[in-house]
Amino acid sequence: MSIAENIARIRAQMNAAAIACGRDPKEIQLCAATKMNDAAAVREAIAGGVDCCGENRVQELVAKEKENAYEGAPVHFIGVLQTNKVKQVVGHVDLIQSVDRYNLMEAIEKEAAKKGLVQNILLEINIGGEESKSGFRADEIWEVLEKLPNFPHLRVRGLMAIPPVCENEGDNLKFFKEISQLSVDIGRKKYDNVAMECLSMGMSDDFADAIRAGSTMIRVGTAIFGARNYAKPHQ
Ligand SMILES: *Cc1c(COP(=O)(O)O)cnc(C)c1O
Repeated sequence: MSIAENIARIRAQMNAAAIACGRDPKEIQLCAATKMNDAAAVREAIAGGVDCCGENRVQELVAKEKENAYEGAPVHFIGVLQTNKVKQVVGHVDLIQSVDRYNLMEAIEKEAAKKGLVQNILLEINIGGEESKSGFRADEIWEVLEKLPNFPHLRVRGLMAIPPVCENEGDNLKFFKEISQLSVDIGRKKYDNVAMECLSMGMSDDFADAIRAGSTMIRVGTAIFGARNYAKPHQ
């Protein structure tokens, strides 16, 4: 199947999942997780109607930017971001979804101030509390939100989460609901520089459950582009 056909199928599945739980399908965006896919594939995905592209690696972002791969679609950063690479990301992407620690917030703030812009971000939550995963713990997020007045060049647009791999079907729904509730709770507090507009959760295998729990953005790679070939060397 072509990339366009895959996207059409995913859209139909997204619509069905939304309607099944009484949500408006227009509330949910499709972000193409483009890692390890080249500029031609990215262009096909944009032509196929994804709402935005999400890159994981700074090197790939820079290379595809040079090839004008993203023309016509917003670009997000969704991977682990090292503080020494923020320069290549801040102001280059519409949204940094994977802001997972305090010193990264400081680095982005500094770079955005230097460039004289405001950077939209999502706070990444480690919802399963796994040691190996990045992200703020749900119980430390409040302290971070209290400190946002120190970050005038950041705008928090919502939350992003990658729940633990679940053995039993339905277990992931519990994590999705937890993060969704956290997003509602934060929104109620009306912090400065915070608008809980975006809840980024759900990938190829679990986006229907994520939509059921309130996701407003799913990040899909494999179901759009096919399996990634990790054996193949990439930039
Ligand atoms: C790769 C990736 C995805 C997409 O994963 P698939 O299972 O291929 O759909 C989503 N989010 C992030 C952060 C990723 O790195």
